[in-house]
Amino acid sequence: MNDEQLLRYSRHILLPELGIEGQEKFLAARALVIGAGGLGSPVALYLASAGVGSIVLCDNEDVDLTNLQRQIVHRTDAVGKRKVDSARATLAAINPEVRVEGLPERVDGERLEILVQQADVVIDGCDNFATRHAVNRACVRAKKPLVSGAAVRFDGQVAVFDLRASTAPCYACLFPESGESEDVRCAVMGVFAPLTGIIGSIQAAEALKILAGTGETLAGRLLLLDAHAMQVRTITLRKDPACPVCSTAG
Ligand SMILES: [Zn+2]
Repeated sequence: MNDEQLLRYSRHILLPELGIEGQEKFLAARALVIGAGGLGSPVALYLASAGVGSIVLCDNEDVDLTNLQRQIVHRTDAVGKRKVDSARATLAAINPEVRVEGLPERVDGERLEILVQQADVVIDGCDNFATRHAVNRACVRAKKPLVSGAAVRFDGQVAVFDLRASTAPCYACLFPESGESEDVRCAVMGVFAPLTGIIGSIQAAEALKILAGTGETLAGRLLLLDAHAMQVRTITLRKDPACPVCSTAG
């Protein structure tokens, strides 16, 4: 690290749990962020400000006026522009050292597999079950840690599926692909602006801890937040031995 980096990241370096070693891990890391919306915004902002060396951001949408109430990486003058371009501009203004690759697409198939293989951590902030399951399958196959988040109305949830361990549950153990899960979209249900900030910030924290190899993550746990009552609870997740996605027998 040069002198400017030592200053920029000094408040991390001061933490004994991170130190220079932890910060160097961030600088060398590559994170894959799915979605540049309500959750992806705080995730990308914190990963960039914290100095994660390479951030790959995927989103196929353009910035809409209705996004700005919560998608804090985008500015009013970005309405109509691609979300990935808008996010890249904001992140570059915060930390020009970080390499941000913006993919204006809904990644799937082999392309998603490759992106996941290249990542040290995958953060899912998308808004639909099809993509969530595709990302989960790719993470299971590539044995990559997946930080999953969701937020709608006043209800948020975060879980870490640390698929580097063969005993870890996957997203499909919790929400089977064949399940009746219906996409609950913010466009219909509404979402409380700071909820996406809280959940996305927890996702960023978990991703950074995974990259630094410090602390205890939400691996194998689901954190549920009711932001209306401001109640948090955590439930333990178990691997489903019959899960068709992660079970070796499946
Ligand atoms: Zn599973």
